Amino acid sequence: MRFLPNFHATLYTVYQLQQEAPRPKRVTCPQEMESRPKYYGREFHGMISREYADELLGGAEGAYLIRESQRQPGTHTLALRFGHQTLNYRLFYDGKHFVGEKRFESVHDLVTDALITLYIETKAAEYIAKMTTNPIYEHLGYTSLLKDKMVHRLSRGRTEPRRVTFQRDERISSPLVRRSALKDTPEKQCSYEKIHNFKVHTFRGPHWCEYCANFMWGLIAQGVRCSDCGLNVHKQCSKLVPSDCQPDLRRIKKVFSCDLTTLVKAHNTTRPMVVDMCIREIELRGMKSEGLYRVSGFSEHIEDVRLAFDRDGDKADISASAYADINIIAGALKLYLRDLPIPVITFDLYSKFIQAAKIPNAESRLEAIHESLLQLPPAHYETLRYLMAHLKRVTLFEKDNLMNSENLGIVFGPTLMQPPEQNALTTLNDMRQQKLVVQLMIEHEDVLF
Ligand SMILES: [Zn+2]
Ligand SMILES: [Zn+2]
Repeated sequence: MRFLPNFHATLYTVYQLQQEAPRPKRVTCPQEMESRPKYYGREFHGMISREYADELLGGAEGAYLIRESQRQPGTHTLALRFGHQTLNYRLFYDGKHFVGEKRFESVHDLVTDALITLYIETKAAEYIAKMTTNPIYEHLGYTSLLKDKMVHRLSRGRTEPRRVTFQRDERISSPLVRRSALKDTPEKQCSYEKIHNFKVHTFRGPHWCEYCANFMWGLIAQGVRCSDCGLNVHKQCSKLVPSDCQPDLRRIKKVFSCDLTTLVKAHNTTRPMVVDMCIREIELRGMKSEGLYRVSGFSEHIEDVRLAFDRDGDKADISASAYADINIIAGALKLYLRDLPIPVITFDLYSKFIQAAKIPNAESRLEAIHESLLQLPPAHYETLRYLMAHLKRVTLFEKDNLMNSENLGIVFGPTLMQPPEQNALTTLNDMRQQKLVVQLMIEHEDVLF
């Protein structure tokens, strides 16, 4: 429970309504029914009429029983008294009991939850409909009452501009001109947008929505929780929460195979630190290494590096004393990029890049690649920009390392670009374009980014 329930009057209302909701009253059948499925108890009355069920329930709020349908034998109906009438629901069982989305261990739980929901929706329908119109989520006035993490989240949502690294619009209007000098974007606190990763959640004990501050009612699946930052909100509120997820490092268990934007948000960096650290190490001692990125390091050692990053994060030791062979570091970088759940060149944009590479006219082709680059998510774009500038520098040592943009394209094509639907044929067909896209990005890195 994150909220002190007494700081806002409305916090109580829905909570109190839940407390007031009618309790389930099981109406049992006096005789043993032979047709009773083993997952129902004595509340099962066999095939009785709707009217007789009504009579048995005796008008008591919360009274319920199960009957076999007369119209469709073999199917079961939950008859439940609520609001001075008998409600009939088709009842299902597949290991759990359900009438709608939520699945329950017992019919008793299902009825408890149904009564809470019905009661709250009847008593507070208007209130619920308006619940989200005045979210506390952006309301600075409440922040002092909330815990540190929430303070950060709330104030950030209100005061900081969402993007600082670059304005997309400016990039779109910028013509393809050569930059005067190679320079890195100054390190700024990363402010990429990231959507929350909401999953239906069952809360133990009372919980209040961190978006609208109202109680999350029901017995199970009362709301959703973001598995990256731990934000708890109503399902209906989740659609209104801005894309300002700030992943909690304690919730991000791995570095490799973690979504790129999630990782940079969690570490508050511009690019994944794996990329920065590996490139720094390679530029320090590997630029003249023959076959850099083409020669593979021992896979056990590469696996070691992966484990070190997963375990130690940016404290991972990848220095020469830990791994003398630079191909291990190069291999770890490639593995990192290849294992991303969404590749650097995203599945969404994959075919745009492939189509761009097929354009015969060199200038239009470059223009099309540039267009596609601008549509990448900012963290992906930034990672690609940094990597291409590095690969360009690698090619400057071609005399020693024997690597040019073409063979780097062969190496990095399939690492950075993977078709959304993997099959042997597309992979084979697209190999040429994948190579070309990367090759062109290296060669024209200074005008493309
Ligand atoms: Zn989140
Ligand atoms: Zn809410």
